[in-house]
Order: sequence, then C-alpha cells, then structure tokens
Amino acid sequence: MCGSGLVRLSICKILCASALVFALTNCHPLIETSTRIPKAIFIIVDGIPADIIESSQTPNLDSIAGSHGYTRSYVGGEIGGMTQSPTVSAVGYNSLLTGTWANKHNVYTNRIENPNYSYWDIFRIARHQNLDISTALFSTWQDNRTRLVGDGLPEAGGSKLDYAFDGLELDEARFPHDEAREFIRAIDNAVSTEAAHYLRDVGPELSWVYLEYTDDIGHIYGEGDELTAAVAIMDANVGKIWKAVQDRQKTHGENWLVVVTTDHGRDEETGKSHGGQSLRERTTWIATNSQRLNSNFENLPGIVDILPSILDHLAIVPPPRIAAQLDGVSFIDRQDNEPAR
Ligand SMILES: [Zn+2]
Repeated sequence: MCGSGLVRLSICKILCASALVFALTNCHPLIETSTRIPKAIFIIVDGIPADIIESSQTPNLDSIAGSHGYTRSYVGGEIGGMTQSPTVSAVGYNSLLTGTWANKHNVYTNRIENPNYSYWDIFRIARHQNLDISTALFSTWQDNRTRLVGDGLPEAGGSKLDYAFDGLELDEARFPHDEAREFIRAIDNAVSTEAAHYLRDVGPELSWVYLEYTDDIGHIYGEGDELTAAVAIMDANVGKIWKAVQDRQKTHGENWLVVVTTDHGRDEETGKSHGGQSLRERTTWIATNSQRLNSNFENLPGIVDILPSILDHLAIVPPPRIAAQLDGVSFIDRQDNEPAR
C-alpha cells in the first residue's frame, strides 16, 4: 500500500524465485495448497478511504497482500439503479455478509430496522451446507451478531456461530465511554487480541472480525494525523491476527484465506462523513493473501463479490436458490480440494 511497502514487495517477488531464500522472507509460498484444509477469515475495518490506506504505512496489510493481493473496490451498488445502497456501515457489512445489495437484504441504515433474512448470510450458507463447519465472530459492535447475522433467530437460520466475542461496548464499567472514543480503541485491541488467540488455539474454518476505531476517529477529526494514527493502530491489530494465521499455516497444514476490507470511504470535503454516492465514499479496497485471484480482482470488485470468493476458497457451494440470489461474482478461482472438512 505505502510506497516503501511496494518497493519491499518488489524485492520480495524477486526473492520468491529462490526457494533457498524463501523461508527467510515474508513472501507467499507458491506451493501446492489444494490438499490442505481450507479456512477463511474476513476482517472489516471501518471507514478507511482507498486513498488514505494507500498513503499510509500499513506493513501488516502489505504483508497480507504480497505483490498482487491489493485492489480498489466499491460499495453502494449501481448509482441511480435499484441496487443503489447508502455508503453506511451496517449496509456495507450486510452486503458482504449476504453477497447482495440493500434492495435485497433491506438494511439501509445502522438501525437495521427490518433485515430480510431470506438473503442468507455467509455463516448460514456455510452451516447449512456443512453442519460440522466451525465458525467464530469477533466484533466491536454487538449488533453485527444479534441483528445482521441474527445468530440464534429462527428466521435467520438459528444458531450459526460456535464462538462469539463481542458486546464490550455495552460494558461501561470496564470500558467507560469517552468522547475521544478511547474506549473503542481499547475494545478493538481486545477484539483483535482475542481473535488472534482463538485462531491460534482453535483455528475455526470461517471467522469474521470487525474493528471500528478508524471510523470513529474519521467522524471526529476528518483526515489528518489522527486518522493516520488510527490506521496504524488498525494495521497493528490486523497484524496480530495475520501472525496467528501464519503460525497455523506452519504448524497445522492449513490453507488460510485472509480478506481485509472496509465498508465505505469518506466525503471529499472533510473526510468526516459518509453515506452518499460520491466517488470517494464509494471507493473501498480489498487486501488478501489469496494465491488464486482471477481477473475479477483487478476489475474493481464490489463488496458483494467477497462472499462468493470466500465460499470458493472453502469449496462450499450454496443451495441453488441462494446462489441465484447473489449479486456478487467470485474473484478467487475454486480450489480443487475436498469440501470444507
Ligand atoms: Zn462504517
């Protein structure tokens, strides 16, 4: 993402040509992955415009992306069309979770008034197709589990998560709320630390991590030193998780997909707001460690393309009725491996 990172990655690419030095670098291995157990984690970091992530120092995102795994992407659906969706947080999360735009999943605001659970979320699809799949969620906002995923709700497919770490924002004794949003910074740290521990110890097959602090800082300060510092904190939090994934891959023979993205950009004028259809609010980004990226990845994928991509990595095929509803197209070529167990 950053200039120095790109230079380093170019060097890394050259070094990758040598198997001898490979083990000494952070390069992604071009080794056969089809026989290893596929697992996936997607991480949403809130409200970071593409130009901000590209001009910031993000060594851990750089490490995840390697030489090919970063692209600009978009949210918001088709401007003026029936799929047009507000560039608002919960709207974006649910477009990722369901692979559909707001005209289908029916979440138009952060109040999540009446989600349409007939558009299945990724955990519901995975659990339906593989009852034994292990799942987890780590989130700085509890509504992600209780309202969007609707975990435990019969109309949302019942229980789909084996483990959840969230709701800390409701514990004001432990995390007293403050205007500077330091409590959210602390919760992001706790959430990412727990995610790293759980991934390292348990290694669920499908996980979601949500981190909020960057958006809160954007709303208070707009762009500037404060947002740059928040992006660095985000990158360090993601780095903890990435290190756990790398450790699992080394010690457990697993084939992990990591997808990091944001849910919207910010306005052009101050960077303090979002929700409209300006280019900067619609322009997002994706960083991934996948070695099976196809041409769709380079062609401005949408946030709705992430669900089919993760499913392809996990070799999970949705039920035909659900597959027919999806608005997204995979940017990852299917593994020719065993189904997800
Ligand atoms: Zn947001």
